[in-house]
Amino acid sequence: MAVDATLPYDDQNIFARILRDEIPSRRVYEDDYALAFHDIAPWAPTHILVIPKGKYVSWDDFTARASDAEITGFVRAVGKVARDQGLVEPGYRLLANTGLDSHAEVPHLHVHILAGRPLGPMLV
Ligand code: 5GP
Repeated sequence: MAVDATLPYDDQNIFARILRDEIPSRRVYEDDYALAFHDIAPWAPTHILVIPKGKYVSWDDFTARASDAEITGFVRAVGKVARDQGLVEPGYRLLANTGLDSHAEVPHLHVHILAGRPLGPMLV
């Protein structure tokens, strides 16, 4: 079900629980600002989710409230994960759903990294 990006942060959302290691995930990277793990239902041969460690519902919430250090750290982490996974060539797509029309499902900001096949001009 799509979630409203303007709702308050829910500490029990699935990615909050993955961050706290209460439920398992296939982690590929972690630093002070971000955690990256494989999507449980991949849309492409490589489908990694990168989430900030802070409590942000969405891209909108993150870019409005996060500190410059958090934003820089998170964005650098997304780039590093893609590089470390060898995705720069032949390429990858980043996607961050925000709000009801985007069909965002998990109310903790996550950037999808999609790669491993030609992705076409758009997902929708
Ligand atoms: P959204 O639609 O919110 O942008 O994407 C949510 C993503 O989270 C989906 O691609 C979905 O497969 C993934 N997902 C949902 N629950 C879990 C989970 O428990 N573990 C992992 N690794 N991914 C999940």
